[in-house]
Amino acid sequence: MSHIIHRNPRRVPPVAAHATGITITDRDGRTYLDASGGAAVSSLGHAHPDVLAAMHAQIDRNAYAHTAFFTCDAAEQLAARLAADAPGDLDQVYLVSGGSEAMETALKLARQYWLEAGQPQRTTFIARRQSYHGNTLGALAVGGNAWRRQPFAPLLIEVPRISPCYEYRGRADGQSTDDYTAALLQELEDAILAAGADKVIGFVAETVVGATAGAVPPTPGYFRGVRRLCDQYGLLLILDEVMCGMGRSGTLYAFEQEGVLPDLVVLGKGLGAGYQPIGAVLARAPIVQRLRDGSGAFLHGHTYMGHPVAAAAALAVQKVIQRDCLLGAVTVRGAALRRMLREAFGNHPHVGDIRGRGLLIGLELVADRDSKAPFDPARRLHAVIKDEAMARGLMIYPMGGTIDGRHGDHILLAPPFIATEAELAEITSRLADTLHATLNPAT
Ligand code: PLP
Repeated sequence: MSHIIHRNPRRVPPVAAHATGITITDRDGRTYLDASGGAAVSSLGHAHPDVLAAMHAQIDRNAYAHTAFFTCDAAEQLAARLAADAPGDLDQVYLVSGGSEAMETALKLARQYWLEAGQPQRTTFIARRQSYHGNTLGALAVGGNAWRRQPFAPLLIEVPRISPCYEYRGRADGQSTDDYTAALLQELEDAILAAGADKVIGFVAETVVGATAGAVPPTPGYFRGVRRLCDQYGLLLILDEVMCGMGRSGTLYAFEQEGVLPDLVVLGKGLGAGYQPIGAVLARAPIVQRLRDGSGAFLHGHTYMGHPVAAAAALAVQKVIQRDCLLGAVTVRGAALRRMLREAFGNHPHVGDIRGRGLLIGLELVADRDSKAPFDPARRLHAVIKDEAMARGLMIYPMGGTIDGRHGDHILLAPPFIATEAELAEITSRLADTLHATLNPAT
């Protein structure tokens, strides 16, 4: 009997007893390969000695001091490092405790920026369908994950939503990628004009879509077009890199591969790599300067913001990524894993698409490859696959996303950056067993 309200309130999951490298061991001694880094969190694997040492040292020095009274060296050093490593003038950092809190922070900072810029009429965010920005009410409002939103829809602010950049499903037969991209950008422009350009605070998007659609990268030029429209109509560009940021795409920020500079970047997950709960917003300098020159106060704050131990852990994570050249490793190992997956599933009748960036990789499952028809949602295939994978000692992150109102199933792989090629091969092999056991009855 557990007193915890678990994710599935009817079921108590296995008890994680030990974790090291890319393996978690439960209380009964069963081991699981962490092929998803939890939910794209554990970029350095488990029990990394440098991160543990940094946390221990910080706990011994100062485990907590409220930010209404103090700052701390760990938070200052982390912010300085994030500022130094981010392109352009993205050098202002707000530290919180996770991705949803960071998204709420970005939404409020963007709104307050316009208030202080003398444009209080800007009250609308534009976002995309098939996106996930967190589970708190503001983040849920800008998110487009239909089943997560539905029960709470009456509580959420109205957000105009446009199509995601999702080539596998969105591009019509015979349409070129450039034409598809142009059509998406036209849709964004239409949405801006429909809302009234001077009423829009900003556009919110995941640079690489994570959980709702399974590692969907943008088409070439999409974000350059988005940036152009944001500049033309005076919108802030808010990129959610909670899942795809902090190296997972092969560059520290996924937007670096798109040739754009956002105004606000939302971070979580890989920032603390699972060692501590931490999220952050990076903001371009003029945005925060406006508040410094104006009211002098950002009307926001959380008890655990800028937490010393969380900051120390995140700083250690950054140092390890740089010292061990892990961004390069992500690119190389990501390509290796995609190759292994293509070899294993390239002709699989129920794997419609294999895609992603770096070590954020998605497999989209379909009932029929030609029509791309999804499986019947009543089968809850993603949940069955997760259980079958766990039974084979494999952690993957399958989701039943929504595809234009219908359900679809996909699997997200996001192994730690330190995974070896042998471990990636073992992941592929266990995934093949899992899919064989789960999907063969459907053929
Ligand atoms: N944004 C994205 C893209 C995410 O993937 C997530 C979590 O999955 C969040 C925001 C919310 O982060 P958290 O679960 O830390 O609140």
